[in-house]
Amino acid sequence: ALPVIYAITPTYNRPVQKAELTRLANTFRQVPRFHWIVVEDSSVRTELVVRFLARSGMQYTHLNIFTPRRFKRTGMPRATEQRNTALSWLRSHRSSKDVGIVFFADDDNTYSLELFEEMRSTRGVSVWPVGLVSGRRYERPIVEKGKVVGWYTGWRPDRPFAIDMAGFAVNLQVVLGSPRALFKRRGSQPGMQESDFLKQITKVGELEPKANNCTRVLVWHTRTEKVNLGNEPRHRQDSVVIEV
Ligand code: UDP
Ligand code: MN
Repeated sequence: ALPVIYAITPTYNRPVQKAELTRLANTFRQVPRFHWIVVEDSSVRTELVVRFLARSGMQYTHLNIFTPRRFKRTGMPRATEQRNTALSWLRSHRSSKDVGIVFFADDDNTYSLELFEEMRSTRGVSVWPVGLVSGRRYERPIVEKGKVVGWYTGWRPDRPFAIDMAGFAVNLQVVLGSPRALFKRRGSQPGMQESDFLKQITKVGELEPKANNCTRVLVWHTRTEKVNLGNEPRHRQDSVVIEV
């Protein structure tokens, strides 16, 4: 059987949340052997996400953990606790018998179906280009003779792994075999989440290049515009309550 793809999606309540999750589900639903791990940045599992997932027709696990307020300042890494909660869930609910791939799928990115075909064969840690990131059209691992030898990036090329969260996947057995590998808050600099995590589980020379030796963009670091709610009524509310 095909390895199961475990996609870890941190998500939080905001006007576009249901639209983002809908876009994601419409993609992920088409991927065979897919298990969606949705982790809400919330002290409870919200009714909106509970209902959404129940109706999605997908295989999923719904978790939640609230990011402490002191970590919610600009310039601080986002969704550290949510990704770690998903890793803990995998470590306690999956074993050496399970064949799978772990991928971090933020709720606002854009994913091609081909991306999942590429990552499905990940033996250790695989990498590929990401579009619309680092102030460039794309960022990518530079590959020579099948090995990653550097990074084409517009931002901090000195990073040990100059790659976005959407640019790599990890075999489930690597996640289970490095039980202490987590995303860090303490001692982590902004934008170093990926490097800090990957350093704990692999080396640059061991990375498996996908997407035709990292020459094709199959995922985009899109970001959704903040919605204008400037005309929401203050007094005369609508006569019905509608979930958006
Ligand atoms: N996120 C979250 N809590 C927050 C902010 C973001 O759970 O307070 C999630 C968000 O839904 C997304 C991921 O963390 O899945 C990355 O956030 P964002 O897309 O805002 O980051 P960027 O695009 O700037 O990397
Ligand atoms: Mn984003």
